[in-house]
Amino acid sequence: MAKKDRRSPQPAFVTLRDMPGTRVMFWVVDACPYCGERHAHVIGNLRTADPVDALGEIPAPCQPERLYVLSLPPRPKRKGGKEERRRARRDGKREDLDDETW
Ligand SMILES: [Zn+2]
Repeated sequence: MAKKDRRSPQPAFVTLRDMPGTRVMFWVVDACPYCGERHAHVIGNLRTADPVDALGEIPAPCQPERLYVLSLPPRPKRKGGKEERRRARRDGKREDLDDETW
């Protein structure tokens, strides 16, 4: 039976960086959800690659059999509290529904 447990991909928050003197961009995971270390993922040349396209599920470098989800970090907004809480609740509901579907 498929159970979404530890194997479900964890979100990994990224920061966009570029290599000084080049147009090569990469996402930096500051704290990997699995090992807590920093991982860098090369996106490619800024002219030909869209950084957002490189977001999403990819294998974690430290644990190739597991995926993590490159995600933009939530922006620290003081006024966005309500909306964020509502979104979290909605996500929680969706998870519950998923469990029932399984
Ligand atoms: Zn890691």
